[in-house]
Amino acid sequence: MPKLQTLIETLHRDLQPVREGAVASYIPELAKVDPQRFGISGVTTDGQVFEVGDTAHNFTFQSLPMFFVSVMALEDHGREVLRDRVGVEPTGDPFNSIIRLDEGSKRPYNPMINAGAIATTSLIKGKNPTDKLNRLLAMFEGYMGHDIFVDMPTFMSERATGHRNRAMAHLMLNFGMIGEDIETALDLYFQQCAVMVTCHDLAVMAATLANQGQNPITQQRAVRPDYVRDLLSVMYTCGMYNRAGEWAYRVGIPAKSGVSGGILAVVPGRAGIATFSPAIDEHGNSVRGVRVFEGLSQEYGLHLFDLSMGRCSFAKAIEHPAN
Ligand code: GLN
Repeated sequence: MPKLQTLIETLHRDLQPVREGAVASYIPELAKVDPQRFGISGVTTDGQVFEVGDTAHNFTFQSLPMFFVSVMALEDHGREVLRDRVGVEPTGDPFNSIIRLDEGSKRPYNPMINAGAIATTSLIKGKNPTDKLNRLLAMFEGYMGHDIFVDMPTFMSERATGHRNRAMAHLMLNFGMIGEDIETALDLYFQQCAVMVTCHDLAVMAATLANQGQNPITQQRAVRPDYVRDLLSVMYTCGMYNRAGEWAYRVGIPAKSGVSGGILAVVPGRAGIATFSPAIDEHGNSVRGVRVFEGLSQEYGLHLFDLSMGRCSFAKAIEHPAN
């Protein structure tokens, strides 16, 4: 059984030649990204780091922070209010689909797609827009353990071209699902999508969730354990958009994807793993990233329902050298 460092180096080398997929171009700034960037990062719950490739390269969050913003909405309002505004059902539709908003309960199906993320973002408390943004940034910093910033060109680019997102916000305003001030909510949504992160940051964030909400590097508590459980369930069923079923079947661990090419995934109790490779497929998921996780899951039996080899082989692959 290869050690985690050996396996990620092998996967990185074997998948480097893959040329399928394309960088997201519907947000003009994203089209400028080099599609050949590729990094894999793993952080264990005992604080070890395994990395290969472009793990320190900055790229934008896009949909990746939706879990974390939902946690803040939970903290600000509690479970009742959040469940009132956003469901926990997968849609089977593309992440930016508007169609289901106009039927049934009139609330977004889940917080991992654009409509749900906009609704969740609109719940973030703050005295004014700057205060709301600062609270969000401070929360992300708690997970990552360092200062972060919003990439202005990406924010402006999304704000200028995010017509579907704006349409969804208007529809939700019409249904009374979000408050009057939709421009503030949309700006905050576009800003969080434009926060700069690295593959390493994503792995630390995922490791914090794997460690029941405590950052394994800084030892800081970022989130209550019961909120981690709530939202990992939604991440498991909805985090990979309309490929979530296939992902649950083949990979079998909770994960979240973003159109900038990042994927973060949680091996509960063991590790956070992240990949960055900007070429995405028709669902919005990184092509190489999906293959990395399929490889890891197959090799170590990471699937949550795989009890045949599972747990112990991954535990050996990340065993601390001192043990
Ligand atoms: N900012 C992107 C958008 O609103 C986020 C989408 C994503 O990563 N799936 O379209």
